[in-house]
Formats: sequence, C-alpha cells, structure tokens
Amino acid sequence: MTELPAVKRGAALLNDPELNKGTAFTEAERSALGLRGLLPPRVMTQHEQLERFLPGVRSRPTPLDQYAYLVGLHDRNVTLFYRLVMDHLEEMMPILYTPTVGQACQEFGRIFRRSRGLFVTADDAGRVREVLANWPHDDVRMIVVTDGERILGLGDLGANGMGIPIGKLTLYTACAGVPPRQCLPIAIDVGTDNTHLRESASYMGLRQPRLRGAAYDALLDEFVEAVQERFPQVCLQFEDFGNHNAFTLLDKWRDRMCTFNDDIQGTASVTLAGLYSAARITGTPITDMRLLFLGAGEAGIGIGDLVVEAMTEEGISSADAHSRCWFMDSKGLVVKSRTDLAVHKQPYAHDHPPVASFLEAVETIKPHAIIGVSGMPGTFTAPVLAAMARHHARPIVMALSNPTSKAECTAREAYATTDGRAIFASGSPFAPVTHKGRTHVPGQGNNAYIFPGVGLGVIVADSSRVTDEMFAAAARTLASTVTDDDLAMGRIYPSLSRIREVSHAIAVEVARLAYERGLARAPRPDDLSAAVSAAMYQPVYPVYAE
Ligand code: NAD
Repeated sequence: MTELPAVKRGAALLNDPELNKGTAFTEAERSALGLRGLLPPRVMTQHEQLERFLPGVRSRPTPLDQYAYLVGLHDRNVTLFYRLVMDHLEEMMPILYTPTVGQACQEFGRIFRRSRGLFVTADDAGRVREVLANWPHDDVRMIVVTDGERILGLGDLGANGMGIPIGKLTLYTACAGVPPRQCLPIAIDVGTDNTHLRESASYMGLRQPRLRGAAYDALLDEFVEAVQERFPQVCLQFEDFGNHNAFTLLDKWRDRMCTFNDDIQGTASVTLAGLYSAARITGTPITDMRLLFLGAGEAGIGIGDLVVEAMTEEGISSADAHSRCWFMDSKGLVVKSRTDLAVHKQPYAHDHPPVASFLEAVETIKPHAIIGVSGMPGTFTAPVLAAMARHHARPIVMALSNPTSKAECTAREAYATTDGRAIFASGSPFAPVTHKGRTHVPGQGNNAYIFPGVGLGVIVADSSRVTDEMFAAAARTLASTVTDDDLAMGRIYPSLSRIREVSHAIAVEVARLAYERGLARAPRPDDLSAAVSAAMYQPVYPVYAE
C-alpha cells in the first residue's frame, strides 16, 4: 500500500477528493484524524464501496446522467473513481469519453458542479504566468489543452470544450496509470463564434467572438512559454484546436519542447495500427496499399504523414509513399491543378483530372482502404461500399468521424452492403453485427489505445520531445497485440479490456526510443519494463494511521 502523510484532518480531509477515502477510513484513522462522528459507523472496504456505487451509475437513465454521476464521484473521492473506471473500463470509456463527452461539452453549463483544471482566457494576456501559478501542484507532467474551436466533430464549443481535456486526462490515468496529480486539464477561452452557445443563459465562457490573428498567436505564445517555465518536465498535448491553429502550433513547438497534437499524431498512430492489422487479414502489405481519405484536415493529413513515414521505414521512397495516399476534401479530390490547397495538403496533390464525387474517386482509384475523417455522416453511401466490395475481396472501411452520429457509415451498413466482407473500424464504438448468421466485431480506432502509453513512456524517460518515430513505433506495438482470434472476428484492435497491458507495451517502446535517440533526461533504468510498471498509478487507498 502507498503510505502518505495525512496532511489534513477532520472535515478538511473528507473534503479533499485526492485524500478522501469516505467510509473506507479505518477505526484507527478515524481516531487519529478527528473523523469520528463525521462518517457513518460501518467501515467499508473499497470493494464494498464499489458494490454500493456501481448500481447507482448503471441505474442513471441516460449516458449523460451517468457521466454527471461519475464526475460527482471524482469530485468526492478520486481513488474510488479510478478503481471503478479501471475495473469497468470498457463500460465506462464511452461514458467518460466519446461519444458521451461530446454531449457533456454541449451541456457543460447545465451539468457543471465544481471546477476542475485551469481556464486561461483572452483577458489573461500579460498575466498567464499568474494564472498558472495558481495551480496547486508543481509536478505536473501531462497537460491537455484545448481552445474549444473544433470539439470532436461538433464544432466550436468555446469554454465548454473543457470537457475534452478532463476526459483525455482521465484516460491517461485509467488506461496507462499516469498519476492524477501529474495531470492538468486546461481550456484556453478566446471567445466563441458559436452565437447560439454564446447567448445561452448557461454559457460560462467569455461572451465574445473568437480572438484571432496576432492577438491569438501572442496569447498562445505566452501560454506555451509560461507552461515551460512553471512545469519544466511537462508534456503539452494540444487537443481539438481548429485546423489552421492545430497545424501552426504543432509546427511551431514540436522541435522546441515536449509536445504533440493527438488529433493529428495520435489519430495517425491508431489508424496506422489498424492498417497493419488489416494487412494481416488481406495479405496486402501497407506498402502495396492505395488509401483514399475523405477529409484532409488534422486527422486525415496526420494519418497520411505517418503512413508515409511508416512506408518509407519499410523501404519505399517518399514519392512512392505519397503517391499511395489520395485525399478528398470538401472541394473534391486533392489534385495538382487546384489552386486552393493549404500547404499541408500539397504533398498529396496528384497529377490527375479533378474529381468531384467520392463515388467516382472510389471507382477511379480503387483504394484498398477508405478512411473517413470528414465529420460528414452518411458519406460512405451504399454505392460507395458496394464499389469497394467489387474492387476488393476484403475492403477496408474506416469511418472514423466522431461522435457516433457523425460516422461516415454505420457498422451494419458496412457489413450488409459488402456481404460481410468489409474490415470495418470506426471512431466511436459500434455494437457487434450479425450478418447472415456470422457475428462481426467492429474495431474502434480509439486514440486511447495510443496517447496514454505514449504519454507514460515520455514521462518515464523524461523525454524532451515526442517524435513521429515514437508514434510509428506505438502503432506497430498496438498492432502486435492483436491476436489471430481478434482478426478472425474482423477486429483489428485488441479488446479495450487489455488497454493497460497495451499502454505498458507502448510506453516501454516510446521510452526505449527516447533513450536511443538521446532525448531522455531521466537516468536509464536497468529494467525499462519494470520501471514503466512501477510508474503506473494504482487506485489503492493510502494508509494514514495504523
Ligand atoms: P478538420 O476540420 O481538421 O478536417 C475535416 C476535413 O473534412 C477537411 O479537410 C474538410 O475539407 C473535409 N470535409 C468536410 N466536409 C467534407 C465533405 N462533404 N466531403 C469531403 N471532405 C469534407 O477535422 P479533423 O480534426 O481532421 O477531424 C475530422 C473528423 O475525424 C472528426 O469528426 C473527428 O471526430 C474525427 N476524428 C476521429 C478520430 C478517431 O476516430 N480516432 C481521431 C481524430 C479525429
């Protein structure tokens, strides 16, 4: 058991969610810490507490009610919260992250009870250091920050986007054991262009249009510099920024500090892992695949760039690798004759006549995989899926847009239209589908397979950078955990129930690379695997008195 000095007593101890054990305070602790009378008499084990609490979660009428109920537990007892989440991860993940977290952000003002994390606002320009100084813990190792402009596929949710950093950091702890005290969620509130939200009575952010241009850039520069001063060992993860700012921030900071963008690099890694697994089913190695993306934003280009990195690591030229990745955005196929292409799309512009419809692109390119990262539901239509099935025995269909309502097609549509031959994965979870007597288990290309393990590896090695090589290694490691039984069910990702084992394996690989590339600042342990295990938080109550 972890031994912690009791820094608080009595009601103050019960009101500190990180130290509180609730009814699990023992007789000795109740006597020593002035708790007598402040709790019901029966001393319960953590297991008994869970058995009391879990039916309460399950009986809530909607996922959003369940979310709010769980947040309430976190506000009172962090250890019990993580015990529950870790012991029931598959059940709790869709509540604490996609798809429910999207709704939680939309309803943030209504369900808000107690503040968590830091809000840095446009009004804090010039005093961001003071804001960060107010955070009570010094040893912060993982920050997730959003400016709320592009929350999942839901658009601009302003300060309500705070639900995303909170949810992601919950997964860092639950999936990889990053200690809760080392995690800090931050929302940068620069206003919102969502006028409906801004004018709603329950909105708690700045009621002003989004700050843009030089003032925005200056605020973000001040923020990133202040973060590095206040928390010198931190890894800063950017999350759900608008497309332009996401690429600009990543380009600006990736070679100057320990930072990454999960929408770009984490998504890329989990998708690449799915392609490696699918290759085991189809027999076509990724270097021989043609990929067609619907959507050329953060997720799409991020995946393309990492696929190119992986293909070149496997021996083909960069030009060849680029020629295997095709993109379609809202203006049509990304081709050389277009004059409107943002700089990150240009390496994928092919010498090809313009194509306006996705179906026509599928018919022309005959891709082995279609990858939906457009946020446009229903765009993998029946004719598109049928064309994929005509061109390939086992077409790969990845409908990655979140939440569920935004997916390019449903699992049922993918299996039914391809006569059960599709290798299907989605961003948000879909239930297994039985088609003509055979049950198919859809894979969930959930970034949570990747980012917690990457973060843990970076923390253990105290790496000064997060590199694309690490994300490619994470993809290979994730793919290596997929069993032949998984593949036989059509599942290209391991069961979520194995996520801590997966995160551990990824952390070891990431830390190993940090040491090999000279990026690690922590002394190298003799046994990296054991060091990673030892760094993983366990939701066990401390003993305050015996
Ligand atoms: P983004 O705004 O950066 O990019 C969206 C892209 O889609 C743009 O290139 C846009 O031109 C294109 N697009 C929009 N409408 C289109 C249409 N009708 N036809 C073709 N292209 C169209 O957003 P993003 O960060 O890249 O995220 C896109 C989607 O991917 C979101 O729904 C997000 O939830 C999802 N996503 C999933 C995962 C995952 O499953 N692991 C991870 C990250 C993002």
